Amino acid sequence: MSWHVLGAGSLGLLWAGRLAASGLPTSLLLRNQASLDSFLQAGTIAITRQQQSTAVALSAQTAATDEPIRRLILACKAYDAETAIASIAQRLVDGADVLLLQNGLGSQAAVAAQIPQARCILLSSTEGAFRDGSFSVNFAGAGQNWLGDPHNPAPPDWLNELQQAGIPHQWTTSIDQRLWRKLAVNCAINPLCVLHACRNGGLLEHLQEVHGLCLELVTLLEQCAGSSSAAGLFAEVEQIIRATASNQCSMLQDVQRGQRTEIRYLLGHACTQAHQRGLPVPQLDALQQRLRAQLLVLGLPDD
Ligand code: NAP
Repeated sequence: MSWHVLGAGSLGLLWAGRLAASGLPTSLLLRNQASLDSFLQAGTIAITRQQQSTAVALSAQTAATDEPIRRLILACKAYDAETAIASIAQRLVDGADVLLLQNGLGSQAAVAAQIPQARCILLSSTEGAFRDGSFSVNFAGAGQNWLGDPHNPAPPDWLNELQQAGIPHQWTTSIDQRLWRKLAVNCAINPLCVLHACRNGGLLEHLQEVHGLCLELVTLLEQCAGSSSAAGLFAEVEQIIRATASNQCSMLQDVQRGQRTEIRYLLGHACTQAHQRGLPVPQLDALQQRLRAQLLVLGLPDD
Protein backbone atom coordinates (compact mmCIF):
# COMPACT_ATOMS: atom_id res chain seq x y z
CA MET A 1 0.00 0.00 0.00
CA SER A 2 1.44 3.34 -1.07
CA TRP A 3 2.01 6.42 1.11
CA HIS A 4 1.17 9.80 -0.41
CA VAL A 5 2.79 12.85 1.19
CA LEU A 6 1.28 16.25 0.34
CA GLY A 7 3.76 19.10 0.69
CA ALA A 8 7.47 18.96 -0.15
CA GLY A 9 8.46 21.22 2.73
CA SER A 10 10.53 20.47 5.83
CA LEU A 11 8.36 17.79 7.43
CA GLY A 12 6.95 16.46 4.15
CA LEU A 13 10.45 15.72 2.82
CA LEU A 14 11.54 14.28 6.17
CA TRP A 15 8.57 11.89 6.37
CA ALA A 16 8.55 10.96 2.67
CA GLY A 17 12.32 10.46 2.66
CA ARG A 18 12.33 8.12 5.65
CA LEU A 19 9.41 6.06 4.35
CA ALA A 20 10.89 5.75 0.84
CA ALA A 21 14.41 5.00 2.12
CA SER A 22 13.06 2.00 4.02
CA GLY A 23 11.59 0.56 0.84
CA LEU A 24 7.97 1.60 1.37
CA PRO A 25 6.22 2.85 -1.79
CA THR A 26 5.95 6.62 -1.32
CA SER A 27 4.82 9.41 -3.60
CA LEU A 28 5.16 13.16 -3.08
CA LEU A 29 2.13 15.25 -4.02
CA LEU A 30 3.42 18.50 -5.49
CA ARG A 31 1.64 21.79 -5.94
CA ASN A 32 1.75 22.02 -9.74
CA GLN A 33 3.38 20.79 -12.96
CA ALA A 34 6.25 23.29 -12.65
CA SER A 35 7.15 21.87 -9.24
CA LEU A 36 6.85 18.30 -10.59
CA ASP A 37 9.12 19.18 -13.54
CA SER A 38 11.79 20.54 -11.24
CA PHE A 39 11.53 17.45 -9.01
CA LEU A 40 11.87 15.14 -12.04
CA GLN A 41 15.08 16.94 -13.03
CA ALA A 42 16.56 16.13 -9.62
CA GLY A 43 14.88 12.69 -9.32
CA THR A 44 15.77 12.38 -5.64
CA ILE A 45 15.34 14.26 -2.41
CA ALA A 46 18.16 14.88 0.06
CA ILE A 47 18.04 14.41 3.82
CA THR A 48 20.95 15.80 5.81
CA ARG A 49 21.57 14.66 9.35
CA GLN A 50 24.66 15.58 11.33
CA GLN A 51 26.35 16.89 8.18
CA GLN A 52 25.76 13.61 6.35
CA SER A 53 23.52 13.87 3.31
CA THR A 54 21.55 10.95 1.85
CA ALA A 55 19.80 11.00 -1.53
CA VAL A 56 16.49 9.15 -1.61
CA ALA A 57 14.63 8.19 -4.79
CA LEU A 58 10.85 8.29 -4.73
CA SER A 59 7.99 9.08 -7.05
CA ALA A 60 6.06 12.32 -7.32
CA GLN A 61 2.82 13.54 -8.90
CA THR A 62 0.49 16.52 -8.82
CA ALA A 63 -2.92 16.63 -7.15
CA ALA A 64 -4.48 16.38 -10.62
CA THR A 65 -3.36 12.73 -11.00
CA ASP A 66 -6.32 10.37 -10.51
CA GLU A 67 -4.56 7.53 -8.64
CA PRO A 68 -6.64 6.63 -5.53
CA ILE A 69 -5.13 7.52 -2.15
CA ARG A 70 -5.37 5.12 0.79
CA ARG A 71 -2.78 6.67 3.12
CA LEU A 72 -2.08 10.37 3.11
CA ILE A 73 0.30 12.49 5.15
CA LEU A 74 -0.80 16.13 5.02
CA ALA A 75 2.45 18.02 5.52
CA CYS A 76 1.58 21.66 4.83
CA LYS A 77 1.21 24.61 7.20
CA ALA A 78 -2.06 24.86 9.15
CA TYR A 79 -3.24 27.86 7.08
CA ASP A 80 -2.85 25.86 3.84
CA ALA A 81 -4.47 22.64 5.10
CA GLU A 82 -8.07 23.27 4.01
CA THR A 83 -7.11 24.26 0.46
CA ALA A 84 -4.61 21.43 0.20
CA ILE A 85 -7.05 18.73 1.29
CA ALA A 86 -9.71 20.08 -1.08
CA SER A 87 -7.28 19.53 -3.97
CA ILE A 88 -7.13 15.76 -3.37
CA ALA A 89 -10.34 15.04 -1.36
CA GLN A 90 -12.00 13.19 -4.23
CA ARG A 91 -9.00 10.86 -4.56
CA LEU A 92 -9.28 9.57 -0.97
CA VAL A 93 -10.93 6.14 -0.90
CA ASP A 94 -13.52 5.17 1.72
CA GLY A 95 -11.71 4.31 4.95
CA ALA A 96 -8.50 6.12 3.93
CA ASP A 97 -6.16 7.19 6.73
CA VAL A 98 -5.00 10.82 6.77
CA LEU A 99 -2.18 11.84 9.08
CA LEU A 100 -2.32 15.55 9.93
CA LEU A 101 1.08 17.06 10.80
CA GLN A 102 -0.20 20.62 11.47
CA ASN A 103 0.85 22.47 14.60
CA GLY A 104 -1.77 24.10 16.82
CA LEU A 105 -5.50 23.35 16.74
CA GLY A 106 -8.39 24.24 14.48
CA SER A 107 -7.09 23.19 11.09
CA GLN A 108 -7.56 19.47 11.89
CA ALA A 109 -11.31 19.81 12.48
CA ALA A 110 -11.69 21.91 9.33
CA VAL A 111 -9.84 19.25 7.30
CA ALA A 112 -11.82 16.37 8.81
CA ALA A 113 -15.11 18.07 7.92
CA GLN A 114 -14.09 18.01 4.25
CA ILE A 115 -13.27 14.30 4.11
CA PRO A 116 -15.98 12.32 5.95
CA GLN A 117 -14.91 9.17 4.09
CA ALA A 118 -11.47 9.17 5.79
CA ARG A 119 -10.08 8.63 9.28
CA CYS A 120 -8.03 11.60 10.47
CA ILE A 121 -5.11 10.90 12.77
CA LEU A 122 -3.55 13.89 14.55
CA LEU A 123 0.13 14.31 15.26
CA SER A 124 2.13 16.21 17.84
CA SER A 125 5.84 16.25 17.07
CA THR A 126 9.00 17.40 18.78
CA GLU A 127 11.19 16.58 15.78
CA GLY A 128 12.78 19.55 14.05
CA ALA A 129 13.69 20.02 10.40
CA PHE A 130 14.27 22.85 7.97
CA ARG A 131 14.49 23.03 4.21
CA ASP A 132 18.01 23.86 3.01
CA GLY A 133 17.24 23.81 -0.72
CA SER A 134 14.45 22.63 -3.00
CA PHE A 135 13.77 18.95 -2.28
CA SER A 136 16.44 19.07 0.41
CA VAL A 137 15.85 18.96 4.16
CA ASN A 138 18.09 19.23 7.19
CA PHE A 139 16.94 16.98 10.03
CA ALA A 140 18.18 19.21 12.84
CA GLY A 141 16.38 17.92 15.90
CA ALA A 142 15.66 14.36 16.99
CA GLY A 143 12.40 13.99 18.88
CA GLN A 144 9.19 12.06 19.29
CA ASN A 145 5.93 11.87 17.34
CA TRP A 146 2.68 11.23 19.21
CA LEU A 147 -0.21 10.08 17.06
CA GLY A 148 -3.84 9.68 18.01
CA ASP A 149 -7.44 9.79 16.88
CA PRO A 150 -9.78 11.68 19.26
CA HIS A 151 -12.72 9.64 17.92
CA ASN A 152 -11.24 6.14 17.96
CA PRO A 153 -8.68 4.76 20.44
CA ALA A 154 -7.67 1.81 18.18
CA PRO A 155 -4.24 2.25 16.58
CA PRO A 156 -4.01 1.93 12.79
CA ASP A 157 -2.42 -1.22 11.35
CA TRP A 158 0.46 0.68 9.73
CA LEU A 159 2.39 1.79 12.83
CA ASN A 160 4.82 -1.04 12.08
CA GLU A 161 5.67 0.76 8.83
CA LEU A 162 6.73 3.84 10.81
CA GLN A 163 8.87 1.49 12.87
CA GLN A 164 10.36 0.05 9.68
CA ALA A 165 11.10 3.58 8.46
CA GLY A 166 12.85 4.50 11.73
CA ILE A 167 10.27 7.20 12.49
CA PRO A 168 9.98 7.49 16.28
CA HIS A 169 6.36 7.33 17.29
CA GLN A 170 3.96 6.58 20.08
CA TRP A 171 0.21 5.98 19.80
CA THR A 172 -1.77 7.97 22.35
CA THR A 173 -5.44 8.02 23.34
CA SER A 174 -5.09 11.63 24.50
CA ILE A 175 -3.84 13.44 21.42
CA ASP A 176 -6.22 16.39 21.99
CA GLN A 177 -4.77 16.95 25.45
CA ARG A 178 -1.23 16.79 24.05
CA LEU A 179 -2.01 19.29 21.31
CA TRP A 180 -3.72 21.62 23.79
CA ARG A 181 -0.76 21.49 26.18
CA LYS A 182 1.69 22.20 23.34
CA LEU A 183 -0.54 25.05 22.15
CA ALA A 184 -0.58 26.56 25.65
CA VAL A 185 3.22 26.41 25.95
CA ASN A 186 3.46 28.03 22.53
CA CYS A 187 1.06 30.83 23.57
CA ALA A 188 3.15 31.57 26.67
CA ILE A 189 6.45 31.79 24.77
CA ASN A 190 6.22 32.47 21.03
CA PRO A 191 4.17 35.71 20.79
CA LEU A 192 6.29 37.40 23.50
CA CYS A 193 9.50 36.37 21.71
CA VAL A 194 8.18 38.04 18.55
CA LEU A 195 7.08 41.18 20.41
CA HIS A 196 10.36 41.50 22.32
CA ALA A 197 12.37 40.26 19.30
CA CYS A 198 14.29 37.94 21.58
CA ARG A 199 15.46 34.37 21.85
CA ASN A 200 13.60 32.17 24.32
CA GLY A 201 16.01 33.06 27.13
CA GLY A 202 15.11 36.75 26.73
CA LEU A 203 11.78 35.93 28.39
CA LEU A 204 13.57 35.46 31.72
CA GLU A 205 13.30 39.25 31.92
CA HIS A 206 9.53 39.02 31.41
CA LEU A 207 8.62 36.11 33.67
CA GLN A 208 5.85 38.03 35.39
CA GLU A 209 4.13 38.57 32.05
CA VAL A 210 4.63 34.88 31.20
CA HIS A 211 3.16 33.93 34.57
CA GLY A 212 0.05 36.06 33.99
CA LEU A 213 -0.53 34.40 30.62
CA CYS A 214 -0.08 30.95 32.17
CA LEU A 215 -2.78 31.66 34.77
CA GLU A 216 -5.29 32.33 31.99
CA LEU A 217 -4.04 29.39 29.92
CA VAL A 218 -4.45 27.03 32.88
CA THR A 219 -8.14 27.98 33.21
CA LEU A 220 -8.59 27.48 29.47
CA LEU A 221 -6.81 24.10 29.50
CA GLU A 222 -8.94 22.93 32.43
CA GLN A 223 -12.08 23.66 30.42
CA CYS A 224 -10.89 22.44 27.00
CA ALA A 225 -8.61 19.54 27.82
CA GLY A 226 -9.07 18.59 31.48
CA SER A 227 -7.18 19.42 34.66
CA SER A 228 -4.30 16.98 34.05
CA SER A 229 -3.38 18.97 30.89
CA ALA A 230 -3.28 22.16 32.94
CA ALA A 231 -1.12 20.96 35.84
CA GLY A 232 2.27 22.64 36.30
CA LEU A 233 2.03 24.79 33.17
CA PHE A 234 4.07 27.77 34.38
CA ALA A 235 6.79 25.51 35.84
CA GLU A 236 7.11 23.69 32.51
CA VAL A 237 7.14 26.93 30.52
CA GLU A 238 9.87 28.40 32.73
CA GLN A 239 11.87 25.19 32.44
CA ILE A 240 11.56 25.27 28.62
CA ILE A 241 12.60 28.92 28.51
CA ARG A 242 15.75 28.09 30.53
CA ALA A 243 16.54 24.86 28.65
CA THR A 244 16.12 26.47 25.22
CA ALA A 245 17.44 29.92 26.15
CA SER A 246 19.57 30.25 23.01
CA ASN A 247 16.83 29.05 20.61
CA GLN A 248 14.69 31.20 18.39
CA CYS A 249 11.09 30.00 18.54
CA SER A 250 9.33 28.97 15.33
CA MET A 251 7.09 32.06 15.23
CA LEU A 252 10.07 34.42 15.46
CA GLN A 253 11.82 32.41 12.73
CA ASP A 254 8.75 32.75 10.50
CA VAL A 255 8.63 36.52 11.11
CA GLN A 256 12.34 36.97 10.46
CA ARG A 257 12.03 35.06 7.17
CA GLY A 258 9.10 37.28 6.18
CA GLN A 259 6.77 34.25 6.29
CA ARG A 260 3.21 34.00 7.47
CA THR A 261 2.85 32.69 11.04
CA GLU A 262 0.39 30.07 12.29
CA ILE A 263 -1.00 32.52 14.93
CA ARG A 264 -4.61 31.72 13.99
CA TYR A 265 -4.14 28.08 15.08
CA LEU A 266 -2.17 28.93 18.23
CA LEU A 267 -2.90 32.13 20.19
CA GLY A 268 -5.87 32.85 17.90
CA HIS A 269 -7.41 29.44 18.65
CA ALA A 270 -6.88 29.91 22.40
CA CYS A 271 -8.65 33.30 22.37
CA THR A 272 -11.51 32.06 20.16
CA GLN A 273 -12.11 29.02 22.35
CA ALA A 274 -12.05 31.16 25.52
CA HIS A 275 -14.59 33.60 24.05
CA GLN A 276 -16.88 30.75 22.94
CA ARG A 277 -16.85 29.47 26.52
CA GLY A 278 -17.43 32.91 28.03
CA LEU A 279 -14.04 32.73 29.73
CA PRO A 280 -12.39 36.12 30.31
CA VAL A 281 -8.78 36.11 29.05
CA PRO A 282 -7.79 39.80 29.04
CA GLN A 283 -4.03 39.14 28.96
CA LEU A 284 -4.29 36.68 26.06
CA ASP A 285 -6.60 39.09 24.20
CA ALA A 286 -4.17 41.97 24.71
CA LEU A 287 -1.26 39.77 23.59
CA GLN A 288 -3.13 38.80 20.44
CA GLN A 289 -3.91 42.44 19.65
CA ARG A 290 -0.28 43.49 20.12
CA LEU A 291 1.00 40.57 18.04
CA ARG A 292 -1.45 41.17 15.20
CA ALA A 293 -0.55 44.87 15.14
CA GLN A 294 3.15 43.96 15.03
CA LEU A 295 2.59 41.47 12.17
CA LEU A 296 0.78 44.17 10.16
CA VAL A 297 3.64 46.61 10.78
CA LEU A 298 5.98 43.95 9.40
CA GLY A 299 3.79 43.55 6.31
CA LEU A 300 2.67 40.03 7.27
CA PRO A 301 -0.86 38.59 7.46
CA ASP A 302 -2.28 39.11 10.96
CA ASP A 303 -4.07 35.74 11.05
P1 NAP B 1 6.97 24.06 5.18
O1 NAP B 1 8.43 23.76 5.21
O2 NAP B 1 6.51 25.45 4.87
O3 NAP B 1 6.30 23.03 4.16
C1 NAP B 1 4.97 23.09 3.77
C2 NAP B 1 4.92 22.62 2.34
O4 NAP B 1 3.55 22.43 1.95
C3 NAP B 1 5.53 23.64 1.35
O5 NAP B 1 6.43 22.94 0.51
C4 NAP B 1 4.32 24.11 0.56
O6 NAP B 1 4.61 24.46 -0.75
C5 NAP B 1 3.47 22.86 0.61
N1 NAP B 1 2.07 23.11 0.25
C6 NAP B 1 1.21 23.99 0.78
N2 NAP B 1 0.01 23.90 0.17
C7 NAP B 1 0.14 22.95 -0.78
C8 NAP B 1 -0.74 22.42 -1.76
N3 NAP B 1 -2.01 22.85 -1.88
N4 NAP B 1 -0.28 21.45 -2.58
C9 NAP B 1 0.99 21.02 -2.49
N5 NAP B 1 1.88 21.48 -1.58
C10 NAP B 1 1.45 22.44 -0.74
O7 NAP B 1 6.30 23.68 6.58
P2 NAP B 1 6.82 22.63 7.68
O8 NAP B 1 7.90 23.28 8.48
O9 NAP B 1 7.07 21.31 7.05
O10 NAP B 1 5.55 22.58 8.64
C11 NAP B 1 4.39 21.79 8.37
C12 NAP B 1 3.59 21.73 9.67
O11 NAP B 1 4.35 21.00 10.63
C13 NAP B 1 3.34 23.12 10.28
O12 NAP B 1 2.08 23.18 10.89
C14 NAP B 1 4.43 23.24 11.34
O13 NAP B 1 4.09 24.11 12.41
C15 NAP B 1 4.52 21.78 11.83
N6 NAP B 1 5.81 21.43 12.43
C16 NAP B 1 6.97 21.68 11.78
C17 NAP B 1 8.18 21.32 12.37
C18 NAP B 1 9.50 21.55 11.70
O14 NAP B 1 10.55 21.31 12.32
N7 NAP B 1 9.54 22.01 10.46
C19 NAP B 1 8.18 20.71 13.66
C20 NAP B 1 6.97 20.47 14.29
C21 NAP B 1 5.77 20.85 13.66
P3 NAP B 1 5.10 25.96 -1.10
O15 NAP B 1 6.48 26.07 -0.55
O16 NAP B 1 4.98 25.97 -2.57
O17 NAP B 1 4.13 26.89 -0.41
